[in-house]
Amino acid sequence: MLNRIQAFRFTAGITRAAILTCAFSIISAGPPAGWTAAGWSAIGPPAPFTVGKTAAAPGSLYYIATSIPGDVIYLAGNLPLIISVPHGGGLSPDIPDRKASWGFINKNNDDATIELALDIVRAIGEKTGGKFPHVVINNLTRAKIDQNRGWGKDGNPTTGRGGEAWKDFHHRFIGSTAIPAVLNAFGSGLFIDLHGKPDWYGADVIIGYNLSAWQLSNSDRHLDTSKKNYAAKSSIGFLSKKLEGWTGFSELLRGRVSFGSLLQKGLDELGRVRQRRYFAVPRLDYRKPLMNLSGGYNLKAFCGLTDGSIDNPYRYTESRFISGFQLEVSRGLRVKNPRLRADFAATVADAVIAYIEKNFGFRLLP
Ligand SMILES: [Zn+2]
Repeated sequence: MLNRIQAFRFTAGITRAAILTCAFSIISAGPPAGWTAAGWSAIGPPAPFTVGKTAAAPGSLYYIATSIPGDVIYLAGNLPLIISVPHGGGLSPDIPDRKASWGFINKNNDDATIELALDIVRAIGEKTGGKFPHVVINNLTRAKIDQNRGWGKDGNPTTGRGGEAWKDFHHRFIGSTAIPAVLNAFGSGLFIDLHGKPDWYGADVIIGYNLSAWQLSNSDRHLDTSKKNYAAKSSIGFLSKKLEGWTGFSELLRGRVSFGSLLQKGLDELGRVRQRRYFAVPRLDYRKPLMNLSGGYNLKAFCGLTDGSIDNPYRYTESRFISGFQLEVSRGLRVKNPRLRADFAATVADAVIAYIEKNFGFRLLP
């Protein structure tokens, strides 16, 4: 069975696709399709990848050789930046739907976040002279798997195709490939978990640092000096520690060098062109958002958090040297207008580059 999967290659050829359909009729309900609509097929068909064996080429796409091609894909990069896209997928194969053991279960997809990730990749490439972030994309619909929840949590599958997709996304591509690649090349790096939110909830862009709106309502002084050590509780704990004595935690969180303030400069310019105001929080002149989205499993797992709120298999691994945030983008900026989405992606690219250059100290621009 495994040989059948391993023998598979993505192809646009009709003949091979027909053969493929036969192969898949044995191992799954049908061939993967649909994710190509997000435009990623333009980068090229994903090639099979084995953790620790395949030498990934920056700018190339991969799938785990023993899994169903297309369920989870990885763009190999050469920048100190990892972008994960857990909720954008629309593939709905024959995997049992997630069921809540109690209460509400969120099955809403973050539409067009896979397209937004591609736009960000393109913009970063243009600005850096052809360099790539590492990008890990889940193409399965959220009704089948929630790639921002832990193993088996919230009805997540632990067996079969769904279980393999969870491992591909978290263990094989992010934890065992992208993070080690960034650390081997740079020693530290930035992780962004990319999401979509409804227009009515809060600011247009909400940057989550694993801190609640209540915690953000504290003064800068309290955040910087409290025995509660907010820096260590946040997803930028490593970076804050690294910059100790130079840049205070609150400065990194919502001061001039914060991602929110850097992004707001681009949003102001975008707003002038579009004749509409766009806002990101937290930022320099809006420090205490009442509505906040602080981030979930991925942010905690891959930014080295040890607060006990999740069973974090990465807590004592290299993820301690990664800092990052969750980026929640309104529907208006990502779904309705592809031109607007691309322009917004360019502002994200500018802010990400400035943030890494200023705070991590790596030169990215040519
Ligand atoms: Zn989401």
